[in-house]
Amino acid sequence: MPNNTNTYIAELKGKTGQEVTLAGWLYNSRASGKIQFLIIRDGTGLCQCIAEYGKVPDEVFDKLKHLGQESSLTVTGVVRAEERSVGGFELAVTGAEIISPAVDYPITPKAHGIDFLLKNRHLHLRSQRQWCIGKVRHTVVDAIRRFFNDNGFTLIDTPILTGIIGEDAGSLFEVDYFGESAHLTQTGQLHLECAAMSFGRVYCFGPTFRAEKSKTRRHLTEFWMVEPEVAFIDLAGLLELAENFVSFVVGQVLEKNESELKTLGANIESLKKIQPPFYRLTYTEAAEILKSKKTQDFLAAQLNEFKSQKQQIEKKIGELENEAKGSVKQWRADKIAAELIELRSELEETGTKIENNPKHAKLAAEFEWGKDLGGSDETIISLMHNKPVFVTCYPKEAKAFYMKADSPRFAGEAGRSNDKVVLNFDMLAPAGFGEIIGGSVREDDYEMLLERINKQGLNAENYDWYLDLRKYGSVPHGGFGLGVERTVAWLTGEKHIRQCIAFPRMMDKIYI
Ligand code: ATP
Ligand code: MN
Repeated sequence: MPNNTNTYIAELKGKTGQEVTLAGWLYNSRASGKIQFLIIRDGTGLCQCIAEYGKVPDEVFDKLKHLGQESSLTVTGVVRAEERSVGGFELAVTGAEIISPAVDYPITPKAHGIDFLLKNRHLHLRSQRQWCIGKVRHTVVDAIRRFFNDNGFTLIDTPILTGIIGEDAGSLFEVDYFGESAHLTQTGQLHLECAAMSFGRVYCFGPTFRAEKSKTRRHLTEFWMVEPEVAFIDLAGLLELAENFVSFVVGQVLEKNESELKTLGANIESLKKIQPPFYRLTYTEAAEILKSKKTQDFLAAQLNEFKSQKQQIEKKIGELENEAKGSVKQWRADKIAAELIELRSELEETGTKIENNPKHAKLAAEFEWGKDLGGSDETIISLMHNKPVFVTCYPKEAKAFYMKADSPRFAGEAGRSNDKVVLNFDMLAPAGFGEIIGGSVREDDYEMLLERINKQGLNAENYDWYLDLRKYGSVPHGGFGLGVERTVAWLTGEKHIRQCIAFPRMMDKIYI
């Protein structure tokens, strides 16, 4: 049985020549005559273990041969360095003990459809891809805390059950709170502003709930958000904080998760470029870009690229289907079936892109000053840049009540003075990933804030305490929120953020 004399796969380095025991699960195996290749995973990594007939007791050799994927076991053997092997080490097996055999594990190394995998997330978490994403997420969360803790911020835990609306009344999860209506938090910001007046620099980091009714690859109904809030800061200061923060997080992931990023096929070279300063555009400039000929040309070129991708995928599918019709060995037939699943889902995705491209081009061309940037607009701006882009100073009417209107006082930082816009920003991750941060300077003037609250049809009474902050020693202040899942999706190159949290919650289903 496992005990503390076992060795973790991650610790094999430096143990070459020694006999060790690994405790884990059988990830994959194949036999070739008198040799079995067993891939063991133990939570710290993968290790190929080679059992040779005659070098392990016959009965152990036989048991291993019939052992199902995901059976738990201990394997004892001698460590040898092997560059070509996963993890760089191999075990020459001398013995093994089966702890609990698994029969017919439903998720085979073959490809499966996403619905099947989501229904089986409790098991799919064991896959290498999910494991790698989980490791990256862990580093992201650790780096977030580290950055703020090391830069003078105090952690404030803001409530999850609240009575006050922070973002958008249309996406609240209502809770019956002893006969009163309360809801699950959409942001910790309003409470955090109180704390910033006590501690100066604060952050909260917790689960956030939004009843998102649209199904997009960027929206979950429960996600994790970190929100710093700073007293005595202006828009320029916030942008600087955000770019230093994101660069630090990316740097930590590059340092600690290079092998996971490689396995995931992430674009490591482009991540290495994530250093301050990021690009800065005003909303007005972004709107001009969207309407420009350059954007239309860019989208037209993209459409051509998608079309040629589609042809290539179709050609490949045709070839594989033909091959499968002939007489092929079982292993080859399995491989073809897996590849076809992948290719067909790629084909579908490419088809959607081809369908959406003209729609997005039209939306961009007809973009009117005053509208919020839509998902496709963000994607276009983000695709045109190789580093994150700040888009600042959105039209007041499109934004939340608490965002401070521009004024001559901030003219220098914002590049213009115009009370039709607010001192806010979104940070768009590059290469089409889109928004990962939203933030702003907060309205610190009592009268102005009250007017915005009333204008938006909110009940001012509920905001008494929030307004108090503007009565007793109000100061310029601001902050932002970064979504963990979107950040992880960007860093890992994962297309859908549902893959970036262990147990995703979405509009259509709570799977597990
Ligand atoms: P979007 O316009 O994309 O819905 P938002 O403007 O509602 O985003 P903010 O209110 O500014 O987003 O929230 C800050 C950050 O929280 C976002 O930049 C994003 O990273 C994250 N976020 C917001 N909504 C979601 C969601 N439903 N699922 C996952 N992350 C989210
Ligand atoms: Mn939203």
